[in-house]
Amino acid sequence: MKFGGTSVANGEKIRHVAELLKQYYEDGNELIAVTSALGGVTDGLFSVANEVSASGRVSHVKEFMADLKKKHYDAIHIAIDSDSLRSAAIDAIDSRIDELEKALTGICYLGELTPRSIDYISSYGERLAAPIVSGSVQSLGVASQAFTGGEAGILTDCNYGNARPLEQSYDCIFNRLDPLIKHIVPIVTGFIGQDELGIITTLGRSGSDFSASIIGAGVNADEIWLWKEVQGIMTTDPKIVPEANSIPQISYIEAMELSYFGAKVLHPRTIEPAIKHKIPVRVKNTFEPDFEGTLIVAEQNQIEDVVKAVTLINKVALINISGAGMVGNIGTAARVFSALANAGVNIIMISQGSSEANMSLVITEEHLDSAVAAINGEFDNSVVGDVAYDRDVCVVAVVGAGMDGIPGVSGKVFNSLGIAGINIIMISQGSSQHNISFVVSSDDAIDAIRTLHKEFELDQ
Ligand code: ADP
Ligand code: ASP
Ligand code: MG
Repeated sequence: MKFGGTSVANGEKIRHVAELLKQYYEDGNELIAVTSALGGVTDGLFSVANEVSASGRVSHVKEFMADLKKKHYDAIHIAIDSDSLRSAAIDAIDSRIDELEKALTGICYLGELTPRSIDYISSYGERLAAPIVSGSVQSLGVASQAFTGGEAGILTDCNYGNARPLEQSYDCIFNRLDPLIKHIVPIVTGFIGQDELGIITTLGRSGSDFSASIIGAGVNADEIWLWKEVQGIMTTDPKIVPEANSIPQISYIEAMELSYFGAKVLHPRTIEPAIKHKIPVRVKNTFEPDFEGTLIVAEQNQIEDVVKAVTLINKVALINISGAGMVGNIGTAARVFSALANAGVNIIMISQGSSEANMSLVITEEHLDSAVAAINGEFDNSVVGDVAYDRDVCVVAVVGAGMDGIPGVSGKVFNSLGIAGINIIMISQGSSQHNISFVVSSDDAIDAIRTLHKEFELDQ
């Protein structure tokens, strides 16, 4: 069971989580909990690290640390009843706060923030949370112990900021956790692992979902449950469309498409370990535990629901590469893609018309400058005449395995957008036919989501 940042946002919520764990444990389940950082803490760690590496302001570190300490102390006082457990949690927090302050102060003086040090610093959110959750569970009379992802057996490569688990992790997790779960509820930090040298790595933002799936696969769990602040996976982001509905059942593939296409409800790699080990994943609402939520399974519910959900990716940019010299010029696409790969640019969407005179790509906005430089550096004017770009765009994706082989879905998508007066800038549909995605200007994005949500009666 993984609990997200909103689920463990403060002492009351941590206590509620501990009560849920106690209930499921006493019902006869063997459980492992994975915890995120207290809501907002990871964002805070990223921003203080960036700020002080530029400003060198040690006073800012001191202020930040004082707030962070207070937040966790407050949580301890509410979430943990017994004095001895409280002081054990305080000791754990104090020593971590000390280490973190030293690291941030070091960054002030160095004026440099490497990917490795960002991982180290951002790992503290979860490392401060786990001892509190564990203390809270213990104070309800259930034996528990806190572990870091690395201690629990999550071993990764050293791709800081976006580390991948190594295959040996699964055995390692089994060996470390399986003997324990008969007696205790282990509480494992989400988001973080360690590389083969024991250096802390992170699995990418929202990585606790992925941690839970890796651990669930490692111990051969019957189910992996992700507890969040929403009613499961919904037909679209309920923050954009309040009428969004919970999807009772969805296939692995659809859930993957949704998470790749920006539905922030799941870390994009969450489903991979679950698929490999054939473990169903459930997404539930921490604050409405009796509600079923969403079950993610192998089978696809075709026909009934042609379109399952609509999703939005923002913070992307569109690049349009054009030039008469591209027509019939073999290897242009290969050169574009290798230049971008070498520059570390992740491509989200691709489209090339059969005239071959231009190619459009969508990439994450933060990579725009390096992407444009890489393409300009690769070609001379005889092939590529122009590299234009646009930052004010969003990708909208319509997802559903039931679209496969059903005529008229894209007609319906684009017709309804046409009636709503929304201009489509670029279109792409992979031949899996599990999603149709397209680019609109940022100003039209929310309208497009609402229009499609209604058109496919996802609000009913
Ligand atoms: P966690 O507690 O695991 O971090 P989040 O707080 O990230 O979980 O909860 C999921 C978030 O994803 C919600 O804030 C919600 O607005 C957003 N979201 C985007 N698309 C969807 C979707 N299709 N279904 C559910 N939530 C979605
Ligand atoms: N705390 C991390 C983040 O905010 C990981 C997570 O919550 O899943 O990205
Ligand atoms: Mg999240």
